[in-house]
Amino acid sequence: MTDPFPTTDVAAAPPLAAPAGFVEKAPLERYVPPDKPSLIGLSRAALSESLGGVGVPPAQRKMRVQQLWHWLYVRGATRFEEMTSVSKELRAILDAHFTLARPEVVAEQVSVDGTRKWLLRLPSEHPGERPHEVECVYIPEADRGTLCLSSQVGCTLNCSFCHTGTQRLVRNLTPGEIVGQVMVARDRLGDWPGKAGLRDLRAAYPNAGGPELDRGTPSLPSPASGGGKETGSGGGKEAGGRLVTNIVMMGMGEPLYNFEAVRDGLNVVADGDGLSISKRRITLSTSGVVPNISRVGEEIGVMLAVSLHAVRDELRDELVPLNRKYPIRILLDACRNYPGLSNAKRITFEYVMLKGVNDSLADARALVKLLKGIPAKINLIPFNPWPGTRYECSDWDQIEKFSEVIFDAGYASPVRTPRGRDILAACGQLKSATEKLSARERLALRAMAMTD
Ligand code: SAH
Ligand code: SF4
Repeated sequence: MTDPFPTTDVAAAPPLAAPAGFVEKAPLERYVPPDKPSLIGLSRAALSESLGGVGVPPAQRKMRVQQLWHWLYVRGATRFEEMTSVSKELRAILDAHFTLARPEVVAEQVSVDGTRKWLLRLPSEHPGERPHEVECVYIPEADRGTLCLSSQVGCTLNCSFCHTGTQRLVRNLTPGEIVGQVMVARDRLGDWPGKAGLRDLRAAYPNAGGPELDRGTPSLPSPASGGGKETGSGGGKEAGGRLVTNIVMMGMGEPLYNFEAVRDGLNVVADGDGLSISKRRITLSTSGVVPNISRVGEEIGVMLAVSLHAVRDELRDELVPLNRKYPIRILLDACRNYPGLSNAKRITFEYVMLKGVNDSLADARALVKLLKGIPAKINLIPFNPWPGTRYECSDWDQIEKFSEVIFDAGYASPVRTPRGRDILAACGQLKSATEKLSARERLALRAMAMTD
């Protein structure tokens, strides 16, 4: 194998022995709030505090928070002046001190199958330096619409098969930037009651937007599949349906190294009087940050996915260097103790298929044995190669054989999109250099989105 990672410290590692001590990077940057902060992503308590800060009397705050919450997360207001149930005077005060800003969309790609990818610009700590970019992807399916969110710029970790892991710079996203990705998606999709989005604009102005716009008919989730409780007052779109029904934290970053922001952001996303995406439709994927796994169950209560990728510590140490800190046995113990784990609430184990590395049938049998007794689903992800990687995707035949062993052990369809060798990418590798979403990436994203 050649040296695949000239830009990271792990580059010096021989294939099976990663360098001692280099397991994680420290975030190098902080978020510096703008002079006029956005209200997006604040918890109710923080929102109440902000209102107090601009003179809203304590007796009014709860009611004002309720009003704002509705305008922000049910109606998708982008300007205070839309908030007709709030007094003119208070609207002016809010406008003077706050914004409703979401992350800035710098590019949008729309594929023939309806998959959309937004490149979002986030401020860097040092004014004048290049801003950061993360991506957020929407994947429509017949029965759902899944949004893949990022939790960090770059990643604290350095998995050897993951492109994000090669990025040096890490900044944690704020709850506002996490919730902001959902807001951007709903804005762009026109997924608010009574609001026009790109889809509606396109119908009205078929030539608008140039070549980046849709060239096909997106397959949209059926109205019946709308996630969570319908809270829109103004009448839902498409008979109450929502386009964004599911969330996966599978974009850039390790969510459990940004625990508090992810927790606070997801709790806003799941709030039944707001964005209202049910916790059963939110999946958080971790590479195995053991101390925070039980906290996901206790403090967030969403579905858990674990990036296992290997059945032996020696190999997992290489693929997911965090394994040197939390080896497989310790990781699986944390999974067994995951709060709320049951056959109805299983953990998804992700397993990226790397040719000649982890894809033997002996590995498949060992995987089944390893997971015995844990209510589990297995998601095989064909590896999506990137320039400079030392790995290749397993041959499709091998993926099928591997999948059969797992299927015979009682796991349902471990390969979700059996469309051949040219399928997948993964959300973990979103920040691709390509201008358009490749067929491989699109279909890959689809497979990643199928977490239940
Ligand atoms: N950091 C978290 C979540 C983001 S990565 C984690 O590692 O779980 C989301 C998923 O994409 C993980 O299972 C990750 O292992 C996988 N992934 C990353 N790069 C990939 C690639 N090039 N091909 C296929 N899957 C990849
Ligand atoms: Fe980070 Fe996940 Fe990529 Fe590993 S796979 S480097 S944890 S984003």
